[in-house]
Amino acid sequence: MSEESIKVAVRVRPFNQREKDRNAKLIIKMHGQSTFISDPKLSQDEAKQFSFDHSYWSHDGFTELPSGILEPSNSSSPYASQQKVFDDLGRDVIKNAFDGFNCSLFAYGQTGSGKSYSMIGYGANRGIIPIACDELFQQIEKTKNSSTRYEVGVSMMEIYNEQVRDLLTQDFPKGGLSIRQHPTSGYFYPQGLRVVPVGSYTDIEHRISEGTQNRTIAATNMNATSSRAHTLVTIYFDQFIKDVHGDTKKTSVINLVDLAGSERNSSTGATGDRLKESTNINKSLSTLGNVISALADISSGSKRKIVVPYRESVLTKLLQNALGGNSKTVMIAALSPADVNFDETLGTLRFADRVKRIKNTVVVNENPME
Ligand code: ADP
Ligand code: MG
Repeated sequence: MSEESIKVAVRVRPFNQREKDRNAKLIIKMHGQSTFISDPKLSQDEAKQFSFDHSYWSHDGFTELPSGILEPSNSSSPYASQQKVFDDLGRDVIKNAFDGFNCSLFAYGQTGSGKSYSMIGYGANRGIIPIACDELFQQIEKTKNSSTRYEVGVSMMEIYNEQVRDLLTQDFPKGGLSIRQHPTSGYFYPQGLRVVPVGSYTDIEHRISEGTQNRTIAATNMNATSSRAHTLVTIYFDQFIKDVHGDTKKTSVINLVDLAGSERNSSTGATGDRLKESTNINKSLSTLGNVISALADISSGSKRKIVVPYRESVLTKLLQNALGGNSKTVMIAALSPADVNFDETLGTLRFADRVKRIKNTVVVNENPME
């Protein structure tokens, strides 16, 4: 059993067309592990500094290959590609899964900041989830032998309006799946969620694109294609190991979470139904914020008796293990480079700063086979 901090990375994306058209000003700078943000209303030298495990510069300095892949334009470019982010963050997830640890990777940030780009990716620029799944099966093929057997399953769900919807099936029971608590482990899970066995990377890829198609797409004033839902892809990885000293089973649950946009209501112009929807989304996200603040206080040795409000939202019930529990957890906070988003981006940096203070207690999930 060991204590481990949640690993936090931030990543800044290029300007989009709209920002270029409006001559947006760049307010983010990075140097080593540090990220600097300057308030467009103040002078540059009053920039605020934050420090993380990784500060990824993906704003400029890239070229697009004929394949569509973006890579650094020359050897001295600081541009962080999808492969670089995977090598730093995704590779460990796979290694830890083979070692029998639970792993979680989640992406936080306002709509349009680059969460889905980092997690799933677009076109040839595959994100961490597909590259990691590919890598998992390559390693399974490499290490498969008569004494080790592997089983892999995948589930995909969406939390929308505090309801859980299974994305790997077309039927959507009214009110969504109910959340149950496991009688011995105490952990929460959605009852009846499908876990589909998968035997190859292409199997997983098909399931994820099926799930993506089933997603609820609710347009907001901000971004017509943005999702107001939290998307959770879970990989269940079991290893059955035969040994002269007895047979063992190692299990790892890998949670991959693309959170809904973190922006506040006011900037999206929500009214009526959309406001209700937004409030419920904020219930999950604001509870996430409260859970993280409570855990950060506990980790910094606060003497007060602190209750972590996991039970106050669906998202935090399901992420209980990832946050302060038995999981090696990584968070990527996606940043917009533009001056108009200063308030939201500063909010994201502050959130990320609290997350990095959280310590999880991790154990290998290894047991004699029944
Ligand atoms: P979110 O999921 O946070 O709403 P997206 O991941 O969809 O945001 O990103 C918004 C847009 O910015 C997309 O067109 C995406 O291709 C682009 N983008 C985001 N991050 C990067 C990046 N690191 N490099 C290049 N383009 C990016
Ligand atoms: Mg997205």
